[in-house]
Amino acid sequence: MSKILVVDDSALDRFIIKSMLSEYQILTACDGLDAMEQINKDEDIDLLILDLNMPNMNGFQVLTALKSDARYNRLRTIILTNYDELDNEIKGLQLGAVDFIRKPIHMNSLKTRVDIHIELIHIQRLLQQKLDEQSLTLDTIFYHAPVGIAISYGSEPLMKDSNFVIMNPMYEEITGRSKEELLKLGWAKITHPDDFDQEMKNFRKLQSGEINNYSIEKRFIKPDGSMVWVHMIVAPMTLSNKHAYNYICIDISDRKEIENNLRYNNEYDRWTGLYNRSYLESLLKNDAILRTAQKRAIVGINLNAMHLLTTTYRFHYTQDLIKEIAQSLALHCIDQRLLFNTYENRFVFYWKNYPGKKELYEFCEAVANTLESILTAERIGGGIGVVEIDQSNEGDIDQLLKKLLIASERAVDIYDRDFGICFYEAEIEAQISREEDIQCELTQITETENDGGLFLQYQPILDLQSNQICGFEALSRLKSSKHGLIPPLEFIPIAEKTMPIIPIGEKIILQAFRFLNKLKELGYGTINVSINISAIQLLSNGFCKNLFKMINEMRVNPENIGLEITESVLASNFQEINTILGELKDAGLYIAIDDFGTGYSSLARERELNINCLKIDKYFIDKLLLVDPDKAITSDIVSMAHKLGHCAIAEGVEHEKQRHYLLNCGCDKIQGYLISKPLGEEAAIELLNKQIIINNDCH
Ligand code: C2E
Ligand code: MG
Ligand code: MG
Repeated sequence: MSKILVVDDSALDRFIIKSMLSEYQILTACDGLDAMEQINKDEDIDLLILDLNMPNMNGFQVLTALKSDARYNRLRTIILTNYDELDNEIKGLQLGAVDFIRKPIHMNSLKTRVDIHIELIHIQRLLQQKLDEQSLTLDTIFYHAPVGIAISYGSEPLMKDSNFVIMNPMYEEITGRSKEELLKLGWAKITHPDDFDQEMKNFRKLQSGEINNYSIEKRFIKPDGSMVWVHMIVAPMTLSNKHAYNYICIDISDRKEIENNLRYNNEYDRWTGLYNRSYLESLLKNDAILRTAQKRAIVGINLNAMHLLTTTYRFHYTQDLIKEIAQSLALHCIDQRLLFNTYENRFVFYWKNYPGKKELYEFCEAVANTLESILTAERIGGGIGVVEIDQSNEGDIDQLLKKLLIASERAVDIYDRDFGICFYEAEIEAQISREEDIQCELTQITETENDGGLFLQYQPILDLQSNQICGFEALSRLKSSKHGLIPPLEFIPIAEKTMPIIPIGEKIILQAFRFLNKLKELGYGTINVSINISAIQLLSNGFCKNLFKMINEMRVNPENIGLEITESVLASNFQEINTILGELKDAGLYIAIDDFGTGYSSLARERELNINCLKIDKYFIDKLLLVDPDKAITSDIVSMAHKLGHCAIAEGVEHEKQRHYLLNCGCDKIQGYLISKPLGEEAAIELLNKQIIINNDCH
């Protein structure tokens, strides 16, 4: 049984190696001194597995000691190196090691190599025997060796036809070439050009006597053009003519495949085949250190909305779409611009040496066009964020990628196209700090008894038939101590993001109820007030119960209360929301679908909806100014609302021409600057008072 001495100061590594090589007799040493002692004692040790970094006597010192004494010639040494220690590998090999194994130790790799070396030792011994007997009948070994072996005349000019003398069947099998062919071609011509220089460098050293042997991983080109990876050990063999070199080649293509697979998993996303986040991070890190490029930028694509598709369709549908997107985006790659799939629904381009901001923007536009061509049909949008990398930000990769995420999320909110583009700049930073301030003020409001800067304005709604104000829409406002008046479209989403929307929403409802009570006191008991409710509120636990409790406590008439729900809310959770709406409607409240026509609700299901009213979005009212009234579909929306048994309210009416059209097509109510902008409580009541006076005057 072959004896192997494992020299490593790490007890764990010794243990791992020992257990992996259980079929051999394994001795262990914890440092160089210990190793030398054992080698001196035991002449049967065949192979040394030698760590380089050790206390007392390190691996290099051991190799030097072994080299200096002919008694140790019988020993073969494999050094253990770390992945990034190329210099040490070379130095170790120069000092006489025959091979190296990189840490972390890959089980199969270690085992294969040790097996091969033990096999080689056997062969070498057999050879030695044969040589001793002065007979060079290598045939038996040749034909039975599980490795490819070839002998070449190393002293012949390499590029001159053949330098081969003889090779075994395994060598023919590995190279995919017949003996005749090999004899004709020689080994240089079948070596991959990328590996040739390295091999020649070693070979020359071997010839000059600078080294005793070398091992190399290289590729041979097979006749069909494919490649085979081989692990080669080349050593001189002094024959009678003193001019030949032994040249042993071992097929390692299987192990190379494992290694390549490991690398693949490390650097690539399995599904899209694109590079992954960890590879991007390592590139960014390296480039920051090496300063390999003048200008660098990352462009992030945020496709978060894709998860909506997963809920609607199958998982595989989205996955296939992601793959399609990956392929289309990959067409935008150039030499200096790589594409990464950093997360499930996120892609990043990393562009080195981009010409300038203008080109960066044009590139984003091209990417947006590509995405839109695939995703518009799916009604999916997204955002493209850009971070330009410079010396001020290149060091912190996490921070860079976070900024990219922020920019790409911002870009989603840029409404003028499906894919907005947003550069991470100082304004964004300011915007983020503004959001944080607003968030802070909202939280404070929820923690105090009074409503702080939170108040409502009321925009009148006019009944077109009677030409009378029949209600108000309550629109919330936030007066921030730091930033002045904040519109609801800004602070409501902030509240929604972090959940104080529930207590904030409650405060809004209570203010609206107080206003209703005031109206009742003043004799306007038939005037309604409608309140905007966000999806998160509606779906929050006990929303209805809580609302009914407030209605009871405040003694308001449910029939005076309207609730406005935006249409897009119905795209998801249709059933759940419709059940809640049903409960509210049964209690007497009237329910309106806000911004109708812009969201995703399916007309097919509109009939099932538990609502009273459609509020036609301002978009369709604006259109009345632009297109020929006969061609406008606004009237169709009104009649559709009526056919479904709902009342129709037009939003954003600013011009008499619009009012006229709406009156003619039977729209029930209108709201907009033509009647009045949103008003404070006093002004709203004054408006009602004025209306009474006008009415009285008319009678
Ligand atoms: P909305 O419910 O569709 O409200 C109508 C918006 O259009 C209001 O903007 C209103 O001021 C504006 N508007 C009304 N008439 C005209 C007009 O003739 N021309 C123009 N250009 N605009 C007009 P506002 O107050 O900025 O509110 C925006 C949105 O914020 C509201 O849209 C609503 O969705 C949301 N919102 C407002 N208050 C609340 C609230 O208390 N809770 C929730 N969840 N959302 C609210
Ligand atoms: Mg509304
Ligand atoms: Mg609206």
